[in-house]
Amino acid sequence: MQAQSYFQLISPLIFLAFSCGFAVLWHYARDVIALRYYALSYFLGACAFVGNFLRPLMPPVVEIYATSPFYIGMTVLFCGATFAFYRGHAPWKTFWLAGTAMLALISWYSFAVDNIASRIVVMHAGIFAMMVYTAFSLHREMTRRIDRVLQAIIVISAIQLVCRGAYIVFYAAPTLTQADFPQSTLALLLHFSVSIVALALALCLFVMFGMKFVARLTLTSQTDPLTGALNRRGFEARLATFADEETMRNSRHAVVMADLDRFKSVNDTFGHEAGDTVIRAFARLLGSVARECDFVVRWGGEEFLVVIAHADAAAAHLFAETVRTALESIPHDCLRGKSVTASFGIAAWQGEKSLSNAIRDADMALYRAKHEGRNRVCPNLAEMDGNRSEAAVA
Ligand code: GH3
Ligand code: MG
Ligand code: MG
Repeated sequence: MQAQSYFQLISPLIFLAFSCGFAVLWHYARDVIALRYYALSYFLGACAFVGNFLRPLMPPVVEIYATSPFYIGMTVLFCGATFAFYRGHAPWKTFWLAGTAMLALISWYSFAVDNIASRIVVMHAGIFAMMVYTAFSLHREMTRRIDRVLQAIIVISAIQLVCRGAYIVFYAAPTLTQADFPQSTLALLLHFSVSIVALALALCLFVMFGMKFVARLTLTSQTDPLTGALNRRGFEARLATFADEETMRNSRHAVVMADLDRFKSVNDTFGHEAGDTVIRAFARLLGSVARECDFVVRWGGEEFLVVIAHADAAAAHLFAETVRTALESIPHDCLRGKSVTASFGIAAWQGEKSLSNAIRDADMALYRAKHEGRNRVCPNLAEMDGNRSEAAVA
């Protein structure tokens, strides 16, 4: 088999394999819409190579459309998919308008003016513009190392495309004819370089999607599905990063244990679904009052632990009091306009060693808050004693 024929057969297979790969990923992650466009883009790439293979069998009028629309469609979908991946939406109108204009010009240089060099320029310059536009427009979003690699591959592919286009126009075009082009070394080079670029881009994209799915799985396994707060596993993971940081280890923090009051009767009166809605609202409230460096953990059914970083018991008290007063004033539709209350226990801790003690202290303070009538904030007794003796000394 001749080298040309070999590349003409291997390229569509590579494209088709990647198209299937993206389609399978999309099947399992329908919300990642970019996967669908990448699958379509690579499918059109496969069609372009098959079209090229079948070119000699086609009548001249049809033959110029054997590859151009597929290459253009492939580029539009690739660039749109990349926008969709980073921004969630893409400038589809601009891309499709540019693609249609390219096709119109290619038709013009085929039928009105028979100029193969101009056709090549339109094709290469159009694809170059779309790829460079994509890479540079998304510069701000492409911040990780893998994004930078993807950006670099897109720019390098665009540059090599222009270099190849320039070479064809300035050196090869005078002797190039439509009949001998498919068998030329130039065509072989074209297939080879497009396959390499497609391979590099697809591998990079697969790594990126792999990273995205691992991050998603990690997040899912570490958060509570009802409220979006951290679960125990997420708490351990967050604590590990917390304990790694020197300033965190040496700083003083506080924990707040919060529990909804008489929640069993809320469920009994209004139903479990209404109870779920209230738990979600409570988690949202805790999260909205907490700062970026604090974290909210769903500790049990309707019980939450909040770690207040770089703060003493007084700051934690203020946090809990803010949440408590907000909660008792919020009416819930699912409870026919009634509100609920919560009780809070507070304790301070320093460094990872005393955290479990602090949680136990906060739990005891919460127990006291319940015992003293609920809907209140109680600090840890040991701290109250400490504060009292500090005041006495002062
Ligand atoms: P207290 O003021 O002493 O905390 O009274 P309580 O009724 O809130 O306390 P208890 O711990 O006896 O009851 C907690 C209730 O919370 C029991 C359980 O049915 C309910 N609960 C726990 N998890 C969920 C949940 O995910 N959804 C709903 N709707 N209810 C839950
Ligand atoms: Mg309760
Ligand atoms: Mg409880």
